[in-house]
Amino acid sequence: MPHRPGRGARNAEQGDEEAAVRLTIVGCSGSFPGPDSPASCYLLEAEGFRMLLDFGSGALGALQRHIGLYDVDAICLSHLHADHCLDICPYHVVRTYSPHGPFPRVPVHAPAGAPGRLAAAYGMPGEPGLETAFAFSELTPGVFEVGPFEVTAAPMNHPVETYGFRVSCGGRSVAYSGDTGESAELVKLAAGADLLLCEASFLEGPDLPPDLHLTGRQAAEHAAKAGVGGLVLTHLVPWYDPERVAEDATRGGFGGRTELARSGAVYDLG
Ligand SMILES: [Zn+2]
Ligand SMILES: [Zn+2]
Repeated sequence: MPHRPGRGARNAEQGDEEAAVRLTIVGCSGSFPGPDSPASCYLLEAEGFRMLLDFGSGALGALQRHIGLYDVDAICLSHLHADHCLDICPYHVVRTYSPHGPFPRVPVHAPAGAPGRLAAAYGMPGEPGLETAFAFSELTPGVFEVGPFEVTAAPMNHPVETYGFRVSCGGRSVAYSGDTGESAELVKLAAGADLLLCEASFLEGPDLPPDLHLTGRQAAEHAAKAGVGGLVLTHLVPWYDPERVAEDATRGGFGGRTELARSGAVYDLG
């Protein structure tokens, strides 16, 4: 699981050969932004196409460290909790009112009710809502194409309609849990992926609420069952010490490389 601190490091080593898929962690803070990271947002790039998985609170700022303000080509939202979708609202301002526009509408794949919910969050009526900037498609379980990517959406185990994603391109794949409690669907979705971005919101302890979030140990168990190449623990909640999450993960029986997500980390796959 190659992990490079900055853009281009791998390309320089490999004679300018482009990675099949580049993953950049824009935001990995769980449930709300932290001092060092926005809430959930992951940038996937292939063949010059740029797709976001989630666009949580604070992510629009950090995103501009990695790509241009207008360079988002598609967005997939795992669910409609604020820490996964709310920066769609400021990004609507960017796409609609920038003096450098007009810009094409960005396809947004999101759970049912997203256009109305996000329009309400923005403070406008449902019609036309945010449709000047975005073209919404309703997610259902299954496979669809987004630019060069094949995206598989599978239902996760969380109190609201939530999808995990598997994104594949050029023989490489990244799986992302969204928010979930223990989930056989996640194991199936991530089977054999090069990398699993898995939420680890809770610390091990008694009386953990079921069907909500995972611990580091549970994330590692899912990674082991799925046989993934590497595990990145994410959705790290600022009120916990991330090193304890990493320590819990050592008890999950996963033998592959495991690390904590960090805003700004770049993974080149292939
Ligand atoms: Zn969340
Ligand atoms: Zn959630």
